Amino acid sequence: MVWPCPLPVDAYARAGPEVAFPRLDCPSCAGPLVFWSGYRRHVRAAGRCVRIFIPRVRCGPCRVSHALLPAFTLAWRLDAAEVIGTVVAEVASGRCGVRPAAARAGVPYTTARGWVRRFAARAPQIGAGFAALAVELGGEPFPPPAGAARFALAAIGAAFAMAAALPGWAGLGSWRFASSVSGGKLIAANTTSPFLVVGRRRFMPPVPPLPA
Ligand SMILES: [Zn+2]
Repeated sequence: MVWPCPLPVDAYARAGPEVAFPRLDCPSCAGPLVFWSGYRRHVRAAGRCVRIFIPRVRCGPCRVSHALLPAFTLAWRLDAAEVIGTVVAEVASGRCGVRPAAARAGVPYTTARGWVRRFAARAPQIGAGFAALAVELGGEPFPPPAGAARFALAAIGAAFAMAAALPGWAGLGSWRFASSVSGGKLIAANTTSPFLVVGRRRFMPPVPPLPA
């Protein structure tokens, strides 16, 4: 599960388990999820790796636990969502090739190429899902641009534009938004089920950032 964390990566890393994590309901039974345990993982942003704390929450009746990822991460990806999203957007929009985009982001060429390929492969689903979310949030349907990857980018932009009018979302940016509503699986390889979380229960408002 991904929550719409508004904190900068460094601030989140520094706070460790003291981050004000949101209280969520179980996706299966809607009962309360309670803090269970946690683990550390790395995230790479602005050219360096930091260790972050990921809490696990658990539903007692369902006996299922979930990792609670902050929205600046994507599941199973080292790099921050904004880094991946920026590279994907530059390439998918035709502004530049993978190599210059990877160089600007400070990531290996093959890594960036993997993101772009995954995004292209999932673009029809991403486009349809986010276009539907944009309409659900009150946006006008728009004519899809030519090309699945451009459509996917436009749909993410349209959905984020609508979400940004809701409390708390504007400051997150479109890639944290995209990670939040896709459960971190925006460019996941093995997602076969419809991935987009549009239900109100999990389209949660961002929590306020930590007091300084
Ligand atoms: Zn449950």
